[in-house]
Order: sequence, then structure tokens, then C-alpha cells
Amino acid sequence: MRYILGILLFSIFLCADVNTQALKRADKSSNSSQKSEIIRAYNDYRNIYIRALMKDDDILCKTCLRGLIKTGKKLHIDVINYENKLKKLSHKKSKKLIEKKKRPDSVKHSISGKNRLRSIRWKDSQRLVLRFSRDIKKSEVNRFSLNYSKQKKFKTIYDIYAVLTEKTMSLQHTSVKKIRLAQFDQKTLRIVFESDTKIIQQYKISGHELTIKMSSENKELRYIPLHANTSNKIIVIDPGHGGKDAGAVGYKKYREKIVVLQTAKKLRDILLKRGYTVYMTRNSDDFVKLRKRTKFANKKKADLFLSIHANSVPKRNRKKAKGIETYFLSTKRSKRAESSLKAENSDISKLEKSAMNTTLHLMSREKIFASNKLAIDLQQNMLATLKTHYKVKDGGVRSGPFWVLVGAEMPAVLIELGFISHPDEAKLMVNHRYQKKQAIGIANGVDRYFAKNL
Ligand SMILES: [Zn+2]
Repeated sequence: MRYILGILLFSIFLCADVNTQALKRADKSSNSSQKSEIIRAYNDYRNIYIRALMKDDDILCKTCLRGLIKTGKKLHIDVINYENKLKKLSHKKSKKLIEKKKRPDSVKHSISGKNRLRSIRWKDSQRLVLRFSRDIKKSEVNRFSLNYSKQKKFKTIYDIYAVLTEKTMSLQHTSVKKIRLAQFDQKTLRIVFESDTKIIQQYKISGHELTIKMSSENKELRYIPLHANTSNKIIVIDPGHGGKDAGAVGYKKYREKIVVLQTAKKLRDILLKRGYTVYMTRNSDDFVKLRKRTKFANKKKADLFLSIHANSVPKRNRKKAKGIETYFLSTKRSKRAESSLKAENSDISKLEKSAMNTTLHLMSREKIFASNKLAIDLQQNMLATLKTHYKVKDGGVRSGPFWVLVGAEMPAVLIELGFISHPDEAKLMVNHRYQKKQAIGIANGVDRYFAKNL
């Protein structure tokens, strides 16, 4: 198991209103020469600040902000947000004093309002949804981060003006080490996400619900330190077609050879960053014969061969076919492989075909299995990564006699990035951000494959 499963420590600790005392302690610690004391002061100021915010206590807010700026600077924490808030607050002060008399409602509300947490659950792999008994306001949620990069400790904390129900809830997540949920004080519910890489999170409030979304970038980050030894792994990426062979020409005359090279280059860079040794069968718009591609991989003693392609159907059907597919080489062809087979096998003479057929039938069972496993990992990870931002269709893992894979002495797959003939899918496929996401997905799949099959 490569993932560290997060566990929920469910605890309730109620604190009395100890602001004055805490403030005194913070002031004292902030003048210390010891780093640990300054960290303590910083934390104290922040906690009091949150409470002050909820009580609408501007004076206390300002005191805390000054403390946060002072200690934050000593700790080399970016305090620009606090500085801006302090500026705003000082600006607003005179106005607020006059207004406050006119707005007794808001003050009353903050005392009587008791918002209860009704439920908490993972909507999908990325989103945690908290449901409350009444609407949440933006001002009732305060998020901040604490990053101790040296200790590899990254925390994101949410303080929410609400109370916990008695019900115990359990939470687990693959990319977070620990998730803690607790009643911080009488009015504040605190959730702490702790991980050993930086967590990128966004949150959204909608009516009774607060959704915390963890960006898929986290996943990528998590993969880096978790690697098995990748430096001795060699990957050959094979961007399909090139030069005189444009491959499929799709929507708006987008050409397969261009799109696959763009995505392949992104994949190369990601894999290199993750420590793999990577070779490309072509780095530019050159024509390379199919046979030469696997020969190249064999010569490089590659551990994996990834051929990157784009699918297409004739114009009249262009809106009917879309989706991402991954193929592995097999004499058996799945029904839906036909259209891809026709397109990807075009550059082969009859003579070559018969020679390759022999090779194909000599192919070992183990290699077919390994390629099949690899195809599954790639397909799953591409979809998981893309689905966080895009609507994509799972075309599935399929098998077929793809000539470009024949003769490869290592697990080999052919990835159809999508249908370049489909108007919506083609638009995504030429988009660089989409290409990068898809490349990350493929790289994650490679990681997964090696993690399981070393
Ligand atoms: Zn192709």
C-alpha cells in the first residue's frame, strides 16, 4: 500500500473564553528569542484573531494582526494578507463605529446563531462535503495554512462558525495523512488537513453546504516522494505518425501527428522530472516507420513502450464517437478496436504483415498480461486526473493486433488520447492545459504500474 490512509481523530475540546490570558501569553512569547516560542505566539495570535473575527471585535482583530505580522516576519512567513487586512481594518474603523449602532441585527445574530454540522462525507476522490443545519456565510469560514517544509508538515485549517453533532464520523483520504475534526471552542468547529506535501485546496459555500476540494495537483505532488526507484527505469514514448504521415485529420483540420507530439513532449518532461530515463521515437515532425519504433525501444532496452495516438471517425459520425482508449497488443481484437486498427496500421505492406503476424503469435503470455495491466493503470489514471477538471468519456481498455506494438520486447500499449474528429473532444485535445493534465494522468499510471509490478 503506497498510500498512507488518513484517519480521523475525533475529539471535542471545549475552551472557555480565554482571549485575554492567551493574548498575554502570546505577547510574552513573541518577544522570546526562541523559535518555538515565536511559533507558539504566532499560533496564539491566529487563534485569538479567528475568535475576534467571529465576534466582530475589530480592536482585538487589530491587536492580533499586529502580533501575527510581527511574529510571522520573524518566522519568514508571508504576512502580506495580514498586512492588507490590518490596513483595511484601520481604514474602515471610523465608518464602522457609526454603522454599528445602526446594525444591531448582525451582532445579535452572531450570538444566537447555532449552526450544527449535520453530515460530512467524500463526494468523490477530491471533494469533501460538510452539510450544516442552516446556511453558512462566507464570513463564518476562516481558512489558513501552516507549512513547515523542513519537517515536511503541511497543514490547512478551516475554522467554521458551527458546532458538531454528537454523531461520530470517519474520514479517510489517500492524499492526506491526517484529517482532524474537532470542536475548537464553543462556537468554532475546526478541521485540520495534514499531509507531507503541500495541499492545494479550494472551498465553496453553497447554502447549507461547504465543499472542500483538493486539487488533483496534490496527487501528482504526492507521487514524487513515494516513488519506487525510477532512475533505472527506461520509458520509450512513441508519438504516432509524423512528417508525410499526418495521421488522423479531425475537427477543424487538427492533425493527429501534431497533437500527439505535443502531449508526448509534456509526458516526457513529467517523467524526466520523476526520475525516469525517457526516449522519444521522434522529437519533431519527422516520419518514422512503424517497425523502427519498436526496434528503437528494444535497442534502448526500454521497460515500457508507450505509443501515443488520436482516434477519429468519418465526418458524418463525428459527433457519435468520443472517449479515451488504451490498447494492448494481442492477437485477439476487441469489437471496438476496428476503427483504431484501420487507422493505426495503415503504414504496413502485406509482406511485413505476414512477418509481423508470426512475431505476434510468438508473443509470450506474460508480456500480454503485463501490457494489459499497464493499459489498465494508464487508463484509470488518465481518467482520474482529467475528471477533476473535464468531462471525459472512458472508452475502456481494449486489445488488438496493432503493428506499431508488434516486436516490442517490453510491455507495450497504444493510447488513443481521444477522438480528434469530435468537435468538443478535439478542442480539448489541442488545449495545452488539457494536454498537460492528460500527460500527468499517464505518468501517474506509469508510477502505479511500477509500484505494483516491481
Ligand atoms: Zn494514430
